[in-house]
Amino acid sequence: MTISPDTQPDTLDPEDWPTLREQGHRMLDDMLDYLEQIRSRPVWQPIPDAVRAEFRQPLPQQPTDLATVHETFMSSILPYAVGNTHPGFMGWVHGGGTPVGMLAEMLAAGLNANLGGRDQMPVEVERQMLRWVCELFGFPDDASGLFVTGTSMATLIAVLVARHAVLGAEVRTRGIAASGKRLTAYTSVGAHGCIAKMMDMAGLGTDALRMIPVNSRYEMDTTALEQTIAADRASGHTPFFIAATAGTVNTGAIDPLNAVADVAKRHGLWFHVDGAYGALAMLAPEIAPRLAGLERADSVAFDFHKWGQVPYDAGFVLIRDRKQHFDTFASPAAYLRRETHGMAGGSPWPCDFGPDLSRGFRALKAWFTLQVYGSEKLGQIIAHTCELAQYLRLRIAQTPELELLAPVSLNIVCFRFRCNDADRVNAAIIVALQESGIAAPSATTLDGKLAIRAAIVNHRTNKGDIDALIRATLELGTAKIRS
Ligand SMILES: *Cc1c(COP(=O)(O)O)cnc(C)c1O
Repeated sequence: MTISPDTQPDTLDPEDWPTLREQGHRMLDDMLDYLEQIRSRPVWQPIPDAVRAEFRQPLPQQPTDLATVHETFMSSILPYAVGNTHPGFMGWVHGGGTPVGMLAEMLAAGLNANLGGRDQMPVEVERQMLRWVCELFGFPDDASGLFVTGTSMATLIAVLVARHAVLGAEVRTRGIAASGKRLTAYTSVGAHGCIAKMMDMAGLGTDALRMIPVNSRYEMDTTALEQTIAADRASGHTPFFIAATAGTVNTGAIDPLNAVADVAKRHGLWFHVDGAYGALAMLAPEIAPRLAGLERADSVAFDFHKWGQVPYDAGFVLIRDRKQHFDTFASPAAYLRRETHGMAGGSPWPCDFGPDLSRGFRALKAWFTLQVYGSEKLGQIIAHTCELAQYLRLRIAQTPELELLAPVSLNIVCFRFRCNDADRVNAAIIVALQESGIAAPSATTLDGKLAIRAAIVNHRTNKGDIDALIRATLELGTAKIRS
């Protein structure tokens, strides 16, 4: 087959750059308008059946004008997102994002950098972020770390490094079974489900994860932890990993990190901290002392996309022992040959520290966020969300129709409307709140009671949003018990 110049298709770049440029500016303006006017929109609205149906189209074979596709985005996608940019969003633990993070994402996409490795400044940006994380968390400068999708993936990496540390390099070639060991891990009943999921994915099985009870403040009971480790050891298991949580997803409880670190040390176990949203409270001087012990962790998993307000996704794993981390993942491959200089220099590369070879430039939006806002301001935002949670707690205490269901440790408040058949009524209130577009808390269950759970993460949320949540809860609750 010969290639004639006529068969060469146009590239995917525009023929007419000025028109693309104009359209690009319009798209940017639309998104800036969206963020500027976010308060005037409902938090969330259900997707109309017609919009959902119309959206389903066969594979487009022919081109469509960019402006037309963007119109579809504006009319069919943008209005029906989950709404976590909105100040009334208080469900789960979702970050609010920022315009600065959005602009940095655009720059990263334009550069189209692949951060698997090679000698390039984008990799240096990620290394700079790692050094800042080490400084913030009180880790040695030679610790290693990596951007990943989120805390779930960061947890998988931590479990795999800990598994390698206890079983040795052989586990990578011969698997776990060849070791003849039955590894066990420990976390509290308040821990996030990703820890069990990653035990499964690491081949250890969820049964090998012991769920340690919590005290009345929902913090891990370290006496029970130590007893469970001893019992496992006595019955021939190999305890290897403890995951404490700094900011549980249900109530915002912080496990006693120093006490857990002491247990880990006494028994020679890996000490991991799930700091998904809570670890970045190190940015807030008023809260940081409550995370004492974090600096003793062997690994920390956390997200810049929650309290750090960096746009999704921006998880991070920090590992104290660089060599152990490298030895868990590094794999020689002819096509990934390293050189001392040239483009294939700068080894080791990020791909030597995790499962991903191709990796996006997540570091840039986090780096921009820290540079533009500064760590103090980000810390103030975090502290403010905790103050709002205390304000909400106070409002609940002053409102006889409402009942607080858990202590308020950080930024999460669990409460409910008092009434008969409270589980059903409160579940209905949560759905009605979300559908009202005023506020969007989520549901959880505490000691068998269904709770309205407000997690205040967004930098845009203020006292007025808390008042609106209280008002709407009372109105909807009263209406539900009458109907
Ligand atoms: C959000 C969260 C996770 C999971 O993190 P992802 O970034 O969603 O993967 C784990 N643990 C806690 C405490 C969380 O809040």
